[in-house]
Amino acid sequence: VSAALGHSVIPIVNKLQDIFAQLGSQSTIELPQVAVVGSQSSGKSSVLEALVGRDFLPRGNDICTRRPLVLQLVQRKRKGDGNDEEWGEFLHLPGKRFFDFNEIRKEIQAETEREAGGNKGVTDKQIRLKIFSPNVLDITLVDLPGLTKVPVGDQPSDIEARIRTMIMSYIKLQSCLILAVTPANSDLVNSDALQMAGMADPDGYRTIGVITKLDIMDRGTDARNFLLGKVIPLRLGYVGVVNRSQEDILMNRSIKDALIAEEKFFRSRPVYSDLADRCGVPQLAKKLNQILVQHIKTILPGLKSRISAALVSVAKEHASYGEITESKAGQGALLLNILSKYSEAFSSMVEGKNEELSTS
Ligand code: GDP
Ligand code: MG
Repeated sequence: VSAALGHSVIPIVNKLQDIFAQLGSQSTIELPQVAVVGSQSSGKSSVLEALVGRDFLPRGNDICTRRPLVLQLVQRKRKGDGNDEEWGEFLHLPGKRFFDFNEIRKEIQAETEREAGGNKGVTDKQIRLKIFSPNVLDITLVDLPGLTKVPVGDQPSDIEARIRTMIMSYIKLQSCLILAVTPANSDLVNSDALQMAGMADPDGYRTIGVITKLDIMDRGTDARNFLLGKVIPLRLGYVGVVNRSQEDILMNRSIKDALIAEEKFFRSRPVYSDLADRCGVPQLAKKLNQILVQHIKTILPGLKSRISAALVSVAKEHASYGEITESKAGQGALLLNILSKYSEAFSSMVEGKNEELSTS
């Protein structure tokens, strides 16, 4: 099962990063950050988790996400030995590697309590977590507390305004892709998520609508018109998903099984049969990938000219070696070779010839 984010983008990002590493420069491909917005318990954490393909976020009926979680996915090179370890590392626990993702969840919970107390308190102080894995691309996902109206527990009376301000501080950034999450078993027309996303991104260039909980809509109703954009149009469109229910969580159902169940759900619902491209977590991952590829295409001309400049300077250096040692000259030639190869690849990418990058 590979709904995990990044499969089609990884190869190209890898190539680009390799080339910049060869040139001795820092990675210069900045992918946009992705943040979730929606009301409490709409399924935001569930969606992020399904995209990453691992279980590690606190989820539940109650308020679980009480601090922003900045989740940096860091791609590790795959080793030849088949030992493709994945682990997490928190900024507040430097050097400590979490190989057990249940322990990551526990640490998120413990660290939430340390800062926000044990009684539903919310704070804008981030938790920063890096996940190292060969199966992800370098991207940052932000899990945010949900919109809420009525203060509970230790929440102050202005909790709604505070959470709105917190969410806005992330989604107002032009470089932030917004996943506006709305549960299908609520009043879709009055979606808090779409309303806030609309304020941050009025033209809708960076908002994807995500409708969760399609499995628990009222009998006789469906989300067709919504997914088709007939109710609230959205430039980048909608994807409907079915994530794990609270019962699934209690029964430790795996992400893999949940994805299989989701596919079965859509296959068995004739109302969604002609909307296959808007249904399911894998489609959401695909949509995000397409947007990322589009983003790379946009920044490519700039990268290309930098590479050409580097090519020229390497060539000059190479020429000036004169009778310098074989190995050094060999290195230069090798680098030149690689550069021209990728330079060609870039050109065809810009012209949209590269199959791998096709967005259709
Ligand atoms: P968040 O507060 O927006 O982060 O929402 P969570 O991801 O924590 O989910 C809230 C609750 O809704 C949990 O009990 C999930 O199991 C449940 N849930 C999320 N998505 C779905 C879904 O698609 N279908 C069903 N039946 N339950 C879901
Ligand atoms: Mg959450």
